[in-house]
Formats: sequence, structure tokens, C-alpha cells
Amino acid sequence: MAVLRIRTIGDPVLREESRKIENIGDEIIRLAESMIETMRVYRGIGLAAPQVGESVSLVVVPSREDWEEAESVAIVNPVLSRLKGSIMGEEGCLSVPGFSENVKRSEHCVLTGQDLDGNEMRIEAQDFLARVFQHEVDHLKGVLYVDRLSPLKRQFVLKRIQRELKDRE
Ligand SMILES: [Zn+2]
Repeated sequence: MAVLRIRTIGDPVLREESRKIENIGDEIIRLAESMIETMRVYRGIGLAAPQVGESVSLVVVPSREDWEEAESVAIVNPVLSRLKGSIMGEEGCLSVPGFSENVKRSEHCVLTGQDLDGNEMRIEAQDFLARVFQHEVDHLKGVLYVDRLSPLKRQFVLKRIQRELKDRE
């Protein structure tokens, strides 16, 4: 288990479409464990493999709505379904450090996939957890939450981010 380096906006790996995982071997298990550790250290609420530089279809997320108490679970090849409703809420991302914006998401969704033993998993989520699931699955498609903003807002935010990140260098 290791704490992995978080890739930030501008890194091309965040824009790639993630590969489906055909075989859950030691490498994937190690990656998932390290992602959970990395998420804990950086106080993230969800992390997708591309955020640590691995373009594979793997996320780690809280297992329940009371995410502060819930244990984190790894989900292999996650798929969203039953997206319903629409709700605005604040969102941030470890790959876009120091920023948060209001993003429109579905209020309800179901996440299915496999656990690290290859068993089918299904988690039904509302509100905040549903938001986390949609955010993480977006990462696997190379989508960041800033892409979900209106074009004008997006342009404004991206400029601000570029400026800030340059200042921090
Ligand atoms: Zn994110």
C-alpha cells in the first residue's frame, strides 16, 4: 500500500478513456488498496484510477450515504444506471485542487460493478453519494466536473485555475 501522486488538471491521463479491467490480478488489488490509502491521506471522498495516473476502469468510493462513517470500497468496471432527478450541489476534485463549483447532477443513481474478488456489486445512492458516483465515473471517461459547467462559467473557471496553478509553480 502506498500513497500515490495525484494528477492534476492539465495532465493528459485525466482526459483518456479508461480501459476495462478484464482480470482482477494482484496489480489491480494493490492499486485499489493504494487508492483507498491515498484518498484517506488527501481527505478525498472518492477517487478514480486516472487521478493517480492509471487509465483503468476502477474507482474507490464510500460504500454508504453516511460517507464519513462508511468504509471505502473499490469498484471495478463501474456502470451507472437509473439516473433520475436533477439537483445542484457543490463539487470539488483532488485533481482540481483549491476549487469548488456548483454542478448539476442526477439526484438518484445506481452503481454496479465488481468488487476485488470479482463479485457483482450494486449500490443505490441519493443526493451526495449519487453525486460522488457520477463524478468518479466521469473521470473514467476523461471528464472533469468543470466540463459540466455552462460554457461561459467553464471558460471563466478554467482561466482562473490556470492562473492559480501558474502562481503556485
Ligand atoms: Zn474528481
